[in-house]
Amino acid sequence: MPVVHALDAADALELVASTPDGLSSEEATRRLNIYGPNRSPEPKKRSTVLRFLAHFHNVLIYVLIGSAIVTAALQHWVDTGVIMAVVLVNAVIGFLQEGRAERAMEAIRDMLAPHATVLRNGHRRSVDAADLVPGDIVLIDAGSRVPADLRLIEARGLKAEEAILTGESVSVDKGIDPVGKEVALGDKTSMLFSGTLVVSGAARGVVVATGPATEIGQISDMLTGVQTLTTPLLRQMDVFARWLTLFILLVAASLLVYGYFVGHMPFAELFMAVVGLSVAAIPEGLPAVLTITLAVGVQAMARRNAIVRRLPAIETLGAVSVICTDKTGTLTRNEMMAASLISSEHHYVVEGDGYAPEGELRRRGASVPEPENAILSEFANAAALCNDATLRRAEGEWHAEGDPMEGALLALAGKIAGDTETPSALWSRTDTIPFDAAHRYMAVLHHDHEGHAAIHVKGAPEAVLDMCATQRGSDGEAAPIDAAYWHGMVEHLAAEGQRVIAVANRPVRQSQTILNASDLDGRLTLIGLIGLIDPPRPEAIDAVAECHAAGIDVKMITGDHAATARAIAAVIGLKHCEEVLTGADLEAMDETALSAAVAEVDVFARTSPAHKLRLVNALQSRGLTVAMTGDGVNDAPALKRADAGIAMGRKGSEAAREAADLVLADDNFASIVAAVREGRTVFDNIKKVISWTLPTSFGEAATIIVALFAGLALPVTAVQILWINLVTAATLGLALAFEPSEPGTMRRQPRQRSAPLLSGGLVWHIVLVSALFLAAGFGVFFYALDRGYPLVLAQTIAMNTLIVLELFHLFFVRNIHGTSLTWKAARGTKVIWACVVTVVAAQGAITYLPPLQSVFGTQAVSVFDGLLILAIGILFFALIETEKQMRLALRSPEPGKSRTRDAQARS
Ligand code: ADP
Ligand code: MG
Repeated sequence: MPVVHALDAADALELVASTPDGLSSEEATRRLNIYGPNRSPEPKKRSTVLRFLAHFHNVLIYVLIGSAIVTAALQHWVDTGVIMAVVLVNAVIGFLQEGRAERAMEAIRDMLAPHATVLRNGHRRSVDAADLVPGDIVLIDAGSRVPADLRLIEARGLKAEEAILTGESVSVDKGIDPVGKEVALGDKTSMLFSGTLVVSGAARGVVVATGPATEIGQISDMLTGVQTLTTPLLRQMDVFARWLTLFILLVAASLLVYGYFVGHMPFAELFMAVVGLSVAAIPEGLPAVLTITLAVGVQAMARRNAIVRRLPAIETLGAVSVICTDKTGTLTRNEMMAASLISSEHHYVVEGDGYAPEGELRRRGASVPEPENAILSEFANAAALCNDATLRRAEGEWHAEGDPMEGALLALAGKIAGDTETPSALWSRTDTIPFDAAHRYMAVLHHDHEGHAAIHVKGAPEAVLDMCATQRGSDGEAAPIDAAYWHGMVEHLAAEGQRVIAVANRPVRQSQTILNASDLDGRLTLIGLIGLIDPPRPEAIDAVAECHAAGIDVKMITGDHAATARAIAAVIGLKHCEEVLTGADLEAMDETALSAAVAEVDVFARTSPAHKLRLVNALQSRGLTVAMTGDGVNDAPALKRADAGIAMGRKGSEAAREAADLVLADDNFASIVAAVREGRTVFDNIKKVISWTLPTSFGEAATIIVALFAGLALPVTAVQILWINLVTAATLGLALAFEPSEPGTMRRQPRQRSAPLLSGGLVWHIVLVSALFLAAGFGVFFYALDRGYPLVLAQTIAMNTLIVLELFHLFFVRNIHGTSLTWKAARGTKVIWACVVTVVAAQGAITYLPPLQSVFGTQAVSVFDGLLILAIGILFFALIETEKQMRLALRSPEPGKSRTRDAQARS
């Protein structure tokens, strides 16, 4: 694709002057066709052929190919053919699985595609960053990744970190003053470059280059960001599988030597037996099946709105023992509405619905008396001017673009002003101090057309009250501030769960055009308080209860007022809502005190992002596995430090998203819990795949080893062993990757992360099942010989017995934490039954079809013997299931259950 050269920065400025409202949608579409999407070119992929061939690069495959050559040299053509079929099928399955896993990851990359806020047709719009075109006016704030190369046209306190381009990790100040054309990239302070990170401030810029034309796009190959589909656990299994392979090869070699020199067996037969043994025992398919298990988990989480950014998070999520969550938007809906106003004399109730700027204000149930309109319009001015949101009406409904709280304030201003002209039409903004979670207020400076200028501030009452010397009366006069009255009112509103905002203002000289924090020191006049409601999400209430049942603590960490937080925590159902620690309390504690406190307290209020980091550390010092949510730039350290960092997909900044392991597409607490459930399920499935694969392989291998040592005829021939591997590797083992959550998954205590995967229980299971396979294989074989059956028939019966045991073992393994004796467990899943049908059909074919009989050395089995095989399977199942029930009976009682009962007793 030819690179279309971008706008010159100077041209860009002219262009903006002619279209201050941004491009029209039609113009944007036209340009998109010319310049192409704002995306870096796709990284080159390995060719399909190469990717397919890569699946032959594997120790086992080399062993098999070697064996095929030896058997060919011995002219055992059937064996050669079957071995080559095993090799091929293995590669094909691996290749298809890899494709599936890659598609899963790609779909997720698309879900994480960045968005940008642009001005189009004079309105703020959130668009796909890929749809940006040169000439677009883009709005940027702290925590954003710059979506394209921009020439700045407005900048406040702007700093950008450009290490990705310049290698310089110290952030640079940016402004609108032009710099020469010839300066180095790092000194172009009037530009923001695509891919760099805005660490503070806010800005507006016009797009001068997109996609491959940007500075970063020209250094291609940099932003590939391809993830390999693996986790520490899988890597561990990979290493384990490799050593196991070596071990088995050594055993096989010893057997070959022993059988030849001591047992004096014919070489060809012995060699085939040893190959069969190796193929049976080496878990060649295991790594691939585990990878697909992971991919299935990633997809399941994505369906539940939880997008995994770093794969190891899947494992960690399953082990989470405490979730620290934001309040606003995560536990609550973030659909705000102003519900009450408090002036120095009166309490007003605001009526209305959603963001519609329609509704009445009432005092004591009656309309507001005329003289009080003056103070109400001051409320309206502050609410509308100290505001970056816009309201938009679409399909009869009002929506807020930008911060929902500011949207609610605009609706409030609309309700007060009625049809009269809105404040923002009369005033124009000259400067801003943007909201910051650390100082908790926003201030603006405005000028009107008649020579007036004023500062308006809104923010957390503690912050704003400190800036005020006076308060506005209903008569319009300013009187000395009565702090006790206001604090009382704040508590009153907050106790109802309302979010409380204070608004204040001050006239200034017309010549003032710059707003500094020093302008706000103690000279403002307080207008009053605004109480906003933000209803809790009903699904969050259920999700919190689910967490408690699953042995997971939930902590609320919010910037909001303590009383508001407490009221919401009670509705949501947190355990300890009475005691609330504030940011100030946290500052007064040392690490030891904090570590003790975090165990007893579930609500943390008026915190700033730095406190989150301390809380994560304190919880981790108690040995807990911590999930932490965050949305702002300053949350990034806590997100990185947490075992599972979770960022908000909607309201979150790009910086938070990049620091996170998981992104929530819907910002909803319930999605975190869904992700934890999926995490537990994936871990269970990994364990199930291992619990099924290893004993099955070892049981088959043991059968051959014992026969060789005892100098007996093989109960199952080498070719049959190869066949079993071929059929089952492709079906049964894989089926477990798709297992749904077991019932009771969220009623178990979280897993200890230090617990080894190959636990004592698992080793015992492997030994037990291997032994039973061995006993059943030989038992049925001797029975058949005893009845005078020919060897071939005895071997056919033994082979079919092994397959039947594998099938029953599969049904057993599906429920490792509970009983398999339920209707649900017996009914299985579509995937399971598809596998059963395939395997039974394949076995039927090689047992009864004459051409296959001659290839595999089989003979038709009578109905009676068929029933016998089935009975052995049932007996096997009964044995292992009973053994499991014995273990389950001795397991410690489920704490989740007793706790729910406590909760029921209390309510
Ligand atoms: P939360 O944890 O609820 O998201 P924030 O850190 O966003 O808390 O906000 C903390 C406090 O800062 C709020 O209770 C409110 O008083 C104030 N605040 C929040 N957003 C704004 C804003 N846009 N402008 C002014 N003040 C704000
Ligand atoms: Mg917030």
